[in-house]
Amino acid sequence: MNSMQDRLIDLHTHTTTSDGSFTPAELVALASKLGLSAVAITDHDTISGYPEACKAAENTGVEVIPGLEISTRYHSAVHILGYYVNINNQALLSELSWIVWERDQRNERIRALMREDGLPVDYSGMKTRFGDVVGRPHFARLLVEYGLAVDVRDAFRRYLERGQRYFQARTFLSIERSVEIIALSGGIPVLAHPFQYRLDEPELRELIEYCMQHGLRGIECLYSGYTEEQSLYLKHLASEYGLLVTGGSDFHGSAKPHIQLGCGTGDLAVPYALLEGLKEEQNKKSLKK
Ligand code: AMP
Ligand code: FE
Ligand code: FE
Ligand code: ZN
Repeated sequence: MNSMQDRLIDLHTHTTTSDGSFTPAELVALASKLGLSAVAITDHDTISGYPEACKAAENTGVEVIPGLEISTRYHSAVHILGYYVNINNQALLSELSWIVWERDQRNERIRALMREDGLPVDYSGMKTRFGDVVGRPHFARLLVEYGLAVDVRDAFRRYLERGQRYFQARTFLSIERSVEIIALSGGIPVLAHPFQYRLDEPELRELIEYCMQHGLRGIECLYSGYTEEQSLYLKHLASEYGLLVTGGSDFHGSAKPHIQLGCGTGDLAVPYALLEGLKEEQNKKSLKK
């Protein structure tokens, strides 16, 4: 058994329930094999992978945390992570089914464009194959299978990015509602990967302060590819604002082959202590009730 200080976790992972390539059970098995103490399942816009992950974790010593990652828009794309959400909360489930419905509308437009080009897409077949949250990554896989791109990234570049033939805009859940609904459903809202948004410091502070007005409680400071300096900078911001520090790899399996579970691009190490911070926050909330 590792000592407390050595115990490592991963608080940002995707499964086949959204756009990852490992099923929830496979992801937990991998976490166990790698000796991770805990993993949070943070699929895009869904919490439905959690029960399977939980079941798979029985007798492994891996702790599974229910989570999700909601895509929102601020000035550009911003992602909000949620930890310890109540997976039976009706308000949360109804927002999430709206997101799936909205994506389905957008996907229908992509399907129509592909059909115009003689590329038939069986959408209900996609739902069966890929699960509820069907998005551009799955259309990318079809395009690869049609031989029109060498891999998912190439399919995005050629067909699915803004400005390309099959790009169709989505409407997103607002950032304030995303933060709020996570908090309302008993969860802890956290700003995901802050350096992905290409904001300067005043803009990043504005984003953090705006999210805090709606209940933000943490910042993802450790992330695949972030340098020690970058993580330290984010930790300073978190401490200045009284926010929790979280960290995770954003593992997607073969959908992002350069990112490994736990260690990210090689040097990521997320200590168990960060999870204890989340748990303390949960305890404080239940005492307040
Ligand atoms: P959607 O919400 O259906 O439009 O799909 C968005 C998802 O596509 C994001 O969560 C990313 O995981 C993935 N994605 C976006 N851009 C790219 C890209 N250039 N290459 C690979 N995956 C991408
Ligand atoms: Fe993704
Ligand atoms: Fe993200
Ligand atoms: Zn993610």
